[in-house]
Formats: sequence, structure tokens, C-alpha cells
Amino acid sequence: MPPELRIPRSDSRPGLGRPATGHPVPVPAPGPVPLPAPIPWAAGLSLLVRTAHWCALQGWPVHPLAAGRKTPAANCPACRDQPHPASACSCLAEGKWCHGFHAATLDHDLIDRWWGRNPQFGVGVACGPAGLVVIDVDAHATQPPTRDRILPGIAISDRVDLTGLANGFHTLAVLAALRGQDSPADDTTTLRVRTPSGGLHIWYRAGEGRRWQCSSGSSPKRALAWQVDVRAHGGYIVAPGTRTADGTYLPVGATREPAPLPGWLAQELERTRHLPEAAIPAARPVPPRAWQAVAAAGSGGTRVQRTLEKVLEPVEACGRMPEGTGFSEALNRAAYTLGGLVAAGRLTQQEAEQALTRAAAAARPTQERRARQIICSGLTAGQQRPLPVERERRP
Ligand SMILES: [Zn+2]
Ligand SMILES: [Zn+2]
Repeated sequence: MPPELRIPRSDSRPGLGRPATGHPVPVPAPGPVPLPAPIPWAAGLSLLVRTAHWCALQGWPVHPLAAGRKTPAANCPACRDQPHPASACSCLAEGKWCHGFHAATLDHDLIDRWWGRNPQFGVGVACGPAGLVVIDVDAHATQPPTRDRILPGIAISDRVDLTGLANGFHTLAVLAALRGQDSPADDTTTLRVRTPSGGLHIWYRAGEGRRWQCSSGSSPKRALAWQVDVRAHGGYIVAPGTRTADGTYLPVGATREPAPLPGWLAQELERTRHLPEAAIPAARPVPPRAWQAVAAAGSGGTRVQRTLEKVLEPVEACGRMPEGTGFSEALNRAAYTLGGLVAAGRLTQQEAEQALTRAAAAARPTQERRARQIICSGLTAGQQRPLPVERERRP
């Protein structure tokens, strides 16, 4: 582990490292840098190349940052003068660092080459391929926005006194408190990195298959909280140990590993649209056997009710399973089947819509908009093929 990342003896000196607003944030004690960790093949290398290797060993692809800055190292002249997408660039295959985080690598030889020639380069980590989502808390001295922009999507009553709310530490703490949680800024179980401007990066593991999207806390399109950015797919984060003209990015406390993203925070990110709108699956016909089962369940007695129960059962079952376990597919199929029943005159359009909406909301309360689209497309497609109603069989 590079010396910058080693655990300081004390990380909570009073009065040190507090943002101008006075929110207490523990920082590493200053003082002599401890002896380098024994990475034998890294002996004699500059500190930052060691940091780059250390990140790559964690499985986090790295790319160079311009010396003393937190922006990526400059592109080659060809990439600079004739802008083009990284996907259409031959530089990356040639081992150049053009296009910022698109060039990020786990290749130790390339790391040696890049930082060997430019030992003053900082280290950026491409969050998406690293499987990381980093909560970037700012402490800029700017005027807070109107209350509807403090925590997007959450109405803060006029009766709540917001005097003193001045930065991202505060908005994140308010959000956490609303959810009955401790602020992630105080999460000692995960890697946290103090920024030279008094902000804090809280590193988490994104979780299997979760493609979290970046956001800026002031964006009207997608934001978690004012002065809190999210670094994930399509973004990078400055690695601890990187030095800029303003100071060094220093880990806080003893934890050097990102913890899994807490469940409540994942829910908040999902609520604030940090997952891509999943493609709405194309409506697909239901296999004949499934239709027969539905028709059979619907014969006699309170048959509409029994039919609905049967059709919606797989949707409701998704509510008992984690996200990403076939919810769209189940809802799509149910909508298609009920569309067929509507066309056959067994059910009204309104009954079908209501039942589907209710079942979807119970299973995935945060995906209302998406569920509506799936229901609409499934019902429409299903109505093109009326369910072949079986004659009621009599014994
Ligand atoms: Zn280039
Ligand atoms: Zn290029």
C-alpha cells in the first residue's frame, strides 16, 4: 500500500480539516509519512505510480491526471485538434492515455510506462468498470438554492428551519436523517477520502449489475442532493494519494476498502434516477400453455378475480425477490395476457390497468413510470390477440 494510503495514528484531531461551515470531518493527522508498504516490484518507484498499481490491484482501472490537477492528462495533438469519440480512436489500442477515463487500464506495464515517464501525474479511477459508485460531497461556499432543489423530489416544508444549511455535508445528513440513517460522510466502514477543498469522497461498491449513472448535485435532470455529486458509470474519481496544487487527497480513518453501497442509499439513488431507464422490453406473445392455464383458472365462480390472481401472481412474486429478477418480463407477460382477456371481453380495460398497476406498485414501488410504460405496451400488444376462451367444461 502506498504511504499516502497507510493508516495514520490518529485521524480526528480536533479543529483540523473542518470545512468553513464547521461540520466536523475527521482527517488524517499530518506529520511524517510512514515507510512505504512492501510492494517489492514497486520499490524505487514514485509514490503516485505505486498508488496507480495499488488501485489496479484492487481491480480499479486507472488513467493519468494532469500534473497537479484533478483533470485528465492532455490528449495527443491529433485527438485534441480533431475531436472524435473514444470508441473511434486508435490511440487507446496503441497504449496512449487519450480520452480521459476511457483510457483507464489495469495493465501494470502500461501503468509503469505512463507514470514512469510522468511521475507527477495524478491517478484517476474509472468508476464504472471499477464497479464503484462514489458519493462526492462538496463544501463550496455558495448560496443554497430554493428548498425544492435541496433534496430533489423531496418537499421540505416551510416550517423546517434551514438556517445554517450550507453544503453537501448538511444536505446528505438531512437526507440520511429523513431515512433514519447515519450520514454516509460518517460511515467508518468504507473508504472515505478527504479532498483538498474540504469535501469528502465516500467510496462504495456498486453491486452486481448495477450501472449507476453520474450526476451533479445542482443538475435539474438528475441529482441526489445539493452539493453532492455521484461518480459512477461515465465518470472517474481522483484516487487517494493524488496531489494537486491545492493539496493531497487523503484517506480518512482506518478503512481502505469500499463497502457495499448501503441499501437505503441504493434506494435513494434509484429514486433519483441514477439507474438508466431500462429498455422497455418488447411485448411478446404468451405461450399457449400459459393461456390455457389462465383460461382454466377463469372458469366459473368469481372468475375474473381468479383469473387476475393467476395472471398477476408472477408480478407479485417479484416483490419478494431482489431487484433485477425478471420484474419487467413478468409484468410484460401479465399485461399481454390481460390485454388478450380484454379483447375477448372477459375483463374491462380499466380493470386490467388497475390490477396491473396495483401489482406493479406493490412489487417495485420505485419504478412507477417504467411500470406504466410496460403495462401500456403489453396491454396494447395483447389486445391484438384475444385470448381463446375455452368453453366452460361441465363434468
Ligand atoms: Zn490520441
Ligand atoms: Zn482520440
